[in-house]
Amino acid sequence: MSNHQHGEEFRDQVRAWLAENCPAGARGAGPMSIGSRSIPLTPDLQAWRERMAEQGWTVPTWPEEYGGADLDRDQYRILIEELKRINARTPLTGRGVNYIGPTILEYGTDDQKARWLPLIARGEGGWAMGYSEPAAGSDLASLTTRAVLDGDHYVINGRKTWTSDAVDCDYIFVLVRTSPDKPKHDGISLILVAMSQAGVQVQPIRLLSGASPFCETTFENALARADDIIGGVDNGWTVGKRLLQFERSTHAGINISGSQGGRTEESGVPEVVLRYAGNESGHIGDPALRKRLTRYTMSGAAQQLTQQRIIEELKSRAPGFASSAVKLSGALLKQEGDELMIDAMGIRGLGVDESTFEKSELAVTRAWLYGKSLTIAGGTKEVQLNIIAKRVLGLPD
Ligand SMILES: Cc1cc2nc3c(=O)[nH]c(=O)nc-3n(C[C@H](O)[C@H](O)[C@H](O)COP(=O)(O)OP(=O)(O)OC[C@H]3O[C@@H](n4cnc5c(N)ncnc54)[C@H](O)[C@@H]3O)c2cc1C
Repeated sequence: MSNHQHGEEFRDQVRAWLAENCPAGARGAGPMSIGSRSIPLTPDLQAWRERMAEQGWTVPTWPEEYGGADLDRDQYRILIEELKRINARTPLTGRGVNYIGPTILEYGTDDQKARWLPLIARGEGGWAMGYSEPAAGSDLASLTTRAVLDGDHYVINGRKTWTSDAVDCDYIFVLVRTSPDKPKHDGISLILVAMSQAGVQVQPIRLLSGASPFCETTFENALARADDIIGGVDNGWTVGKRLLQFERSTHAGINISGSQGGRTEESGVPEVVLRYAGNESGHIGDPALRKRLTRYTMSGAAQQLTQQRIIEELKSRAPGFASSAVKLSGALLKQEGDELMIDAMGIRGLGVDESTFEKSELAVTRAWLYGKSLTIAGGTKEVQLNIIAKRVLGLPD
């Protein structure tokens, strides 16, 4: 199919292609591929990812030579609408297509783009993010993981913490200190590291929600190619911050690099509140709860309109500092919705075991617990507020 058609003709072709190529097992809620070699996919999900990659639609707006389809803004929107219409799952998600891929597109050399981007677009390998350290979270520039040049490789030593999904990942992009004598922001580089080597060790960390997506990742004389530093030696603070904008934009639903659109919606807050706190005629008797649900629904509509506006105004693949504002408002909104459901559910919202609670109830409880992390991950609420104050509103220090 040509990716250069417009409007309704493009929509018709997308619709016909999706009808034929999106398997039943890739529709509706469920797991999505992050490209990890160690997480097996069902045959339907595997076929879905491969077919979409062939079309260039795992990364629809990337250039064709790097595995994308060069879609313009309108075509991208149409593709997303059509994916949503059939409730198709995103064929490939994660830090490859959403964070490091767009960063390489923006800062990589031609050689780096040619070596990494097609591989990322096809989902050949899952990616972890090695930024935070035990003593460098919000104050990220204090990181101490060292990379020392030895011939055509860097030798890396140090410890990264909170590396999500690292146990299932094949690659990790790491912020390392390349010049310890320079001022702290000026001696950092962003480097790509293969995880299948003895020098990289991963230890899972268990979470409050019961899941264990977190890890601690230790580098002990780990090796990375010298030409896998993205954006130049000692330029990692600038490049690494841009990657964070891609991360925040992804959280906020305003990153147009990866294929975000097919994601299926989570359980609807109004439905859950009505089910537990509504009467037989579908009304919520408690006025305070009613008011909260109305406010939540209005904020949700405002959030969606803001997302759309920002996407329409985008001049690049993700916005700059505005990503902090939309990421933060999205996280607060999600937490508000979780609180509402838990309050409406009463004791049913505090489930711990499968024998007395329904699966859907346990899912709400887990989502509520997990939601606490949304104002920490990708930069805390306070850090986002600082960025908004300084960079968006231009307030003095
Ligand atoms: C679900 C989840 C996934 C994550 N995944 C990854 C990952 O894959 N890779 C990775 O590298 N990291 C990851 N992180 C780590 C995350 O980036 C850090 O937790 C975050 O940046 C905060 O750092 P910290 O935990 O060290 O807290 P601190 O920086 O120690 O902050 C503690 C408290 O102090 C406040 N604070 C700190 N500095 C300021 C300031 N200047 N002004 C006002 N308040 C301040 C903070 O807001 C916070 O409330 C993840 C975190 C979570 C929760």
